Amino acid sequence: MEFPKIQISPLLVGFWFLCSVALVHGWGNDGHLTVCRLAQPRLSEAAANAVKDLLPAYAEDDLGSLCSWADRVKFRRPWSSPLHYIDTPDDLCTYQYTRDCKDADGIKDRCVVGAINNYTTQLLTYGQESASQYNLTEALLFLSHFMGDIHQPLHVGFTSDRGGNTIDVHWYTRKSVLHHVWDNNIIDTAEERYDDSDVTELIDAIQTNITLKGNYRVKTWEGCTTGNPPCPDVYATESIKAACNFAYKGVTEESVLEDPYFLTRVPIVYLRLAQGGVRLAATLNSIFG
Ligand SMILES: [Zn+2]
Repeated sequence: MEFPKIQISPLLVGFWFLCSVALVHGWGNDGHLTVCRLAQPRLSEAAANAVKDLLPAYAEDDLGSLCSWADRVKFRRPWSSPLHYIDTPDDLCTYQYTRDCKDADGIKDRCVVGAINNYTTQLLTYGQESASQYNLTEALLFLSHFMGDIHQPLHVGFTSDRGGNTIDVHWYTRKSVLHHVWDNNIIDTAEERYDDSDVTELIDAIQTNITLKGNYRVKTWEGCTTGNPPCPDVYATESIKAACNFAYKGVTEESVLEDPYFLTRVPIVYLRLAQGGVRLAATLNSIFG
């Protein structure tokens, strides 16, 4: 499956990067930045060189600086909007590729899992003659972004509430919607409370969790039971389970979400960001290995 390919110059990408406002879809900027910043130091030499080669020069070899690019171009490329998430049947708490991976018009493969598969296939042509048919810079930016999105539990949410987008809640004293709580509010509150409102401290804290032996099952995350990473069906199944067990749990319209919710959900957000980073690195190492 291929998505429409639009050739754009790195200059234009830079222009969009500089003038766009923060549009929330998927983890917010800090969530995506965290996933990419956790991934980049884990790259093999071959993968690090390929990433450096594919990134535009103005990114200065910082994948994190363009990890939200896919959100910023979404409105200029409406075809890419359905690629950020998957809608699953209400209350079933399961995901199946053939049943769920389609857009609102029913066109199959157009969901975040299909997109991860598609851009992985494109990047596998790196260094080969067939690479010229693709824009591999964009493929890298899309893949890096979607590997973050698929780990946000509500990006594999219920169809009728659009992954929590139509569930109005209060985040402490402010109005929000449940989807935004998971994209941004939990991360922002964690940064304010534990990290001097500094995303680099949040990244360091999650990095420490990854490094501490026995804390996270990092080796297991890096592989797939069959084949090489990525294994997005696994990540999507984990997300809908986390959506049911943590994101939706106990939440109704106009719920007031405060410390009891925050304190029990923030470890899940850290875990999903850590898994996103570790698996993005494992995927790029597998592709460019
Ligand atoms: Zn997104």
